[in-house]
Amino acid sequence: MSNKNKPEWAPKNAGKEFATTVVKGKESQHDGVPGNTSTRTRKAPAKRKLSIENYVNGVLAHDRTILAQTITLIESNSEKHFEMGQEVLRQLLPHTGKSLRIGITGVPGAGKSSFIETLGCQLMKEDLHLAVLAVDPSSSLSKGSVLGDKTRMEMLSRHQNCFIRPSPSGGKLGGVTRKTRETTLICEAAGFDVIFIETVGVGQNEITVRSMVDFFLLLKIAGAGDELQGIKKGVIELADAILINKADGDNIKRAEIAKRDFANALHYLKSPTKGWTPETHTCSALTGDGIYPVWEMIKRFEENVRKSGVFEERRNQQNLGWVHDLVSERLLNVFYADPLIKAMLPQLEKNVINGKIPPTQAAWKLLNREL
Ligand code: GDP
Repeated sequence: MSNKNKPEWAPKNAGKEFATTVVKGKESQHDGVPGNTSTRTRKAPAKRKLSIENYVNGVLAHDRTILAQTITLIESNSEKHFEMGQEVLRQLLPHTGKSLRIGITGVPGAGKSSFIETLGCQLMKEDLHLAVLAVDPSSSLSKGSVLGDKTRMEMLSRHQNCFIRPSPSGGKLGGVTRKTRETTLICEAAGFDVIFIETVGVGQNEITVRSMVDFFLLLKIAGAGDELQGIKKGVIELADAILINKADGDNIKRAEIAKRDFANALHYLKSPTKGWTPETHTCSALTGDGIYPVWEMIKRFEENVRKSGVFEERRNQQNLGWVHDLVSERLLNVFYADPLIKAMLPQLEKNVINGKIPPTQAAWKLLNREL
């Protein structure tokens, strides 16, 4: 088989099992009807069950297959997997914390995946290990992931030092936020030096990601008409740097103007990171211009905040925030799982909608379990 279809990390004499393109499989006996498990359906080979020790040792040994399986365990919504996942996490915890966590946001089409691909490939040349995670809480509402439904980061995904994981979905045992935080820790235990957490610039996503990362990058494009909107929404207040992407061809001039506008706007805002003045740069994920200086800026930032203690302080605050998030989430789950609450809720909701009782009274009735 041709070498161009093989990932770079495939062993020298590896065969088709290491192809990155789809190889023709055997004809299925299944009639194609989802859920139909008639005798014509060929049974999938049983998966080997991993023990807690298998998961922990596999992650620590940088075994990519086990790493992926551990994340799947963490993302599971079953109570049994949840308990096991938490134990795996607990054992991995002493090995976490060493990566640099970078959040990347921007509206769809701003060039986030192209940027990650270009910068990521440059990091690969430095022999750094990179994990790319996506956070898309909004997808659990729209039932489709904005970040997961296209062929993304093709070159990067073939590299042995890179691991890409699409956005998990929510669920009753904690939403996307818990899962992404825990996945970050697992990736750190597996030895990744840099973790990119990518999100789409809608709703609460940015605030969520800001609470998980050391450095937060906002990707913009010139002339999209959203500059002022961004300022109004306060998203740029969260950013340690604003990058005007697509500064190539006849767009360079407009990108420079946008850069100046943002730099001016930033003057009036408080920096999200003590001791750091947010920077504005132009770049092109397409040509690679200005991409490496972004990495140099991030390294400068890291040196600065580590020296001043702001790095440590932020991580401590983030951990405390996480504790309180988990408590709130758990309390809500327990509350709404209560059979009495479940029984009360439909009628109370109807009464609020019909104007029979005000929302405040409905809330008190629920909290006091008062029929
Ligand atoms: P995302 O939705 O933010 O992840 O954006 P993508 O990376 O998918 O990019 C959206 C489109 O913009 C794609 O067609 C890219 O090829 C294009 N694009 C991304 N970066 C650049 C760039 O720096 N210059 C130009 N000209 N196009 C770009």
